[in-house]
Amino acid sequence: MYPDARLKTECDPVELPLDDATRAIARDLLDTMDSFPGCVGIAAPQIGALVRIVAIDVSGHKKAVSDHGRRVLVNPVIVSRGAERVKMREGCLSIPDFTGNVTRAESIVVEAVGLDGAPQRLECDAYEARVVLHELDHLDGLLFLDRVQHARDVFPRKRYQ
Ligand SMILES: [Zn+2]
Repeated sequence: MYPDARLKTECDPVELPLDDATRAIARDLLDTMDSFPGCVGIAAPQIGALVRIVAIDVSGHKKAVSDHGRRVLVNPVIVSRGAERVKMREGCLSIPDFTGNVTRAESIVVEAVGLDGAPQRLECDAYEARVVLHELDHLDGLLFLDRVQHARDVFPRKRYQ
C-alpha cells in the first residue's frame, strides 16, 4: 500500500530460466488478483517482491478491445508504442483512496517471458495497453499519481472492501 517505499523502488530483472521462487511469486500475483474481483492487473512490488513480474487479465472487460486473457509477463519490455493521446480513469489496489485521469499510449507491443519460460509478444490496444503500461510503471517505481497532470484529475474513491 502507498506510501510503502517498495512501491517507489525500481525492480530487478528476473534471472532466467525461471526458478521455483519466481513461479511462487507469479502464483501469488494471480491469487491476489483473483481475490479482488474486477482487478485487471497487478505487479510484483505490490505484494512486496521487487522483481520484474506482472499479471494481467482484461478478459470480458467492457472497455477491452484486444484481450490476451490471463497472462504473467516476466521481464516485460515495451518494444513499440502508439500516440500518447488517450485519457482515462485509473485506479490501483495500492492506492485505495483515489482514482485519476491518466494519458497513455493508445497501443503498445510488449515482449516478455511467460510462466512456461517461452518468449511472448503481445500487441495490445485500448484498455489492455493501459493496463500493461500501468503495471510496468510499478516495476519502475511509478504510480498512476505520478502520471496525473492536474490536481483536478484526481478523485476520491470508495475503498476496496
Ligand atoms: Zn497499480
